[in-house]
Amino acid sequence: MTIDFANLQKHYRLYQEEIDVAVHAVMDKCNFIMGEEVLQLENALAAYVGVRHAITCSSGTDALQLALMAVDIAPGDEVITTPFTFIATAEMIAHLGAVPVFVDIDEATYAIDPAKIEEKITPKTKAIIPVSLYGQTADMDAINAIASKHGLIVIEDAAQSFGATYKGKKSCGLSDIGCTSFFPAKPLGCFGDGGAIFTDNDALAEKMRSLRVHGQSKRYHHRYIGIGGRLDTIQAAVLLVKLRHYETDLALRQEVARKYDAALKGKRPLPFIAPDRTSAYAQYSIRVQDRDALQEELKSRGIPTAVHYPMPLHLQECFAYLGYKKGDFPISETVANEIMSLPMNPFLTDAEIEYVAGAL
Ligand SMILES: *Cc1c(COP(=O)(O)O)cnc(C)c1O
Repeated sequence: MTIDFANLQKHYRLYQEEIDVAVHAVMDKCNFIMGEEVLQLENALAAYVGVRHAITCSSGTDALQLALMAVDIAPGDEVITTPFTFIATAEMIAHLGAVPVFVDIDEATYAIDPAKIEEKITPKTKAIIPVSLYGQTADMDAINAIASKHGLIVIEDAAQSFGATYKGKKSCGLSDIGCTSFFPAKPLGCFGDGGAIFTDNDALAEKMRSLRVHGQSKRYHHRYIGIGGRLDTIQAAVLLVKLRHYETDLALRQEVARKYDAALKGKRPLPFIAPDRTSAYAQYSIRVQDRDALQEELKSRGIPTAVHYPMPLHLQECFAYLGYKKGDFPISETVANEIMSLPMNPFLTDAEIEYVAGAL
């Protein structure tokens, strides 16, 4: 048996008729940049998440950058985040000349540990970026409470958690700003790069819309120094179709996770989803010992696996200048050594799930 990790092809085949029609409609109109589908998508995304504004952009990375720019993160500022995330989270902080300040993760959810945030707050701290890793949010109430006590902005890195919920509310709409990614392998993926920013704050929304198009106030008049960060109309057309089916896809992912849970129970430690949350299961990741050998063995049986992520950010070469060392964030370091993602997509069959569980 050979198992497909994300099975993007099957997903395309399933909705091919609708997607092809939508993409061809854009090509017929040649409205490739900021066509009407972009606005339609933004309205649909905002309604789905339950916030006033959704602003599409060219990637999840740009979503983070635009959010940080909108709240005036500047050289010398400090932004708190977790070292156990994709590089983009801390990279965008550093890109603006600000200092990423790391806080270790909670061992159960792999999200930033709110109990360890306050000791890292200084007069220079401006924002906190919790990351909703693998599709599950952090404890956002606890983080928002700390932020409001200290006058900080909270930007959720929801690149992996679009559609997840926290206390019944949707990820991306849980703090001042939420950022997501439509990278093809994310739970809601487009056919290239894409992302979106969410907020209830009208002024921030207006500023982020402007920053996305070179800081313009009107054509060729520039109020801010911005970026070229628009989402293509073709990607918006694809996403409009996929968003219509997203609740079905998400329910299927969650069903696959439940079946993995049942099949692995007692054999392997299961992913922990807090009772007040649901996961979008961007990944189904478990902790294992002797990971390299296990990955090889699984690969030989046609089971692809992945590691998200093998090296915490405080140990990355590009962040050596921050002066962190091994041992600074022990939970992130241990989890990075042990974590392994299993194939996860809406189409895994019972037989495939049993096969993976059997091999484990
Ligand atoms: C994917 C991802 C990003 C970046 O999104 P892109 O669309 O690839 O730029 C940022 N943060 C996290 C946690 C991610 O998983």
